[in-house]
Amino acid sequence: MSGKVSYLQWMLQVLKNSVELGGFPEEVYHILSKPERVLMVSIPVRMDNGKIVVFEGYRVQHNSALGPYKGGIRFHPEVDLETDMALALGMTLKNSLNGLPYGGGKGAVKVDPKKLSQTELERLSRGYARAIAPLIGDLEDIPAPDVGTNPQIMAWMVDEYSKLKGRNVPGVFTAKPPELWGNPVRLYSTGFGTAVAAKVAAEKYLGRFEGLTVSVHGFGNVGQYAAYYAAKWGAKVVAVSDTSGTVYDPNGIDVELAMKVKESTGKVINYPRGEKLDPDASLYVDCDVLMPSAIENVIRADNVHKVKAKVISEGANGPTTPEAEKVLYERGAVIVPDIAANAGGVVMSYLEWVENLQWYWWSEEETLSRIKTLMENNIKRLIAKYESLRSEKGPVTMRNAAFVLAVERVYKAMKLRGWI
Ligand code: GLU
Repeated sequence: MSGKVSYLQWMLQVLKNSVELGGFPEEVYHILSKPERVLMVSIPVRMDNGKIVVFEGYRVQHNSALGPYKGGIRFHPEVDLETDMALALGMTLKNSLNGLPYGGGKGAVKVDPKKLSQTELERLSRGYARAIAPLIGDLEDIPAPDVGTNPQIMAWMVDEYSKLKGRNVPGVFTAKPPELWGNPVRLYSTGFGTAVAAKVAAEKYLGRFEGLTVSVHGFGNVGQYAAYYAAKWGAKVVAVSDTSGTVYDPNGIDVELAMKVKESTGKVINYPRGEKLDPDASLYVDCDVLMPSAIENVIRADNVHKVKAKVISEGANGPTTPEAEKVLYERGAVIVPDIAANAGGVVMSYLEWVENLQWYWWSEEETLSRIKTLMENNIKRLIAKYESLRSEKGPVTMRNAAFVLAVERVYKAMKLRGWI
């Protein structure tokens, strides 16, 4: 991460402020600033050329006061233990804020998955699952996908883990393919939730959602469905982007067509209409609502002055840096923070896990209506907390409010358990 502070330092700073803001004992900060357990693993993988390459991986188990550890696995060339620790802390807070019976964890492997063949990727995924197997389990620690991983990888991992146990253990990984104990809603649950967050926040701060202009940065699994639902609920999606570029059309983009173009050509820039701009232009176009849905650190001190949106719903983890966040609030924007706005993924994971533990399933409609109710209630509760903190304590961000709510639940659990 460029800039002055690392993602971990920033998360710890927000945590510290929130512990003070919420009036919690200082011990809460001391406990939550460190993970409970960290596992580092080396994974030797035989590559297709016959050579062995050893990959470095981690599983950080951050806090278990509320239940089993839960959080994704990231495959990324720039990931390191420090980032993984920050992401694991984020999961403790995200799971707490959203009322789930989970603590937080996160795993990572330092690798660029795009540079591996499918067979190499399978061997790495199985190797990682074997390496962390002693510490995970359907009642201990339940991983899922994150950046660079997907349902196929979860299928290989659940197979590897089940072989080690000598029985099928569906609930040990979530976001599996629907054919292998997954739920079809997982494909779009995160983007759906990001759009719900944008809609609820826009209705509160801009008086409506229908007819507003929306831009989406990142057109992967999250961004595509965030755009799809925004359009479905009557907003006008004027820009979408991926690493190939931004498609901008002030008259509105046909999101379903853009999704088809992305699926068949791999690049959204091949969309047949609109203006074609740089990948980051979607952050800067004229719009009411922005949903940064790719990666962290995209809205920074050096480019925040170009961002025009009034409501930002963070589909990605950590897309806005602290300096940029300050500038945005000073000019009257609000940001629904990642731990609320992208929680649709882990909320869906929770429902899939409940299904798996019972060997039961819900229909797509029933699953979606459960997520919708949970997400709407959580975002409304967060906005209410933000407003009450703002009137009591002066300028705070919605991220502060989210952290206060999240820490409060973990704090109460730790106190009842006698840890504090
Ligand atoms: N990786 C996702 C997140 O950051 C999902 C985690 C999960 O489903 O456990 O929330």
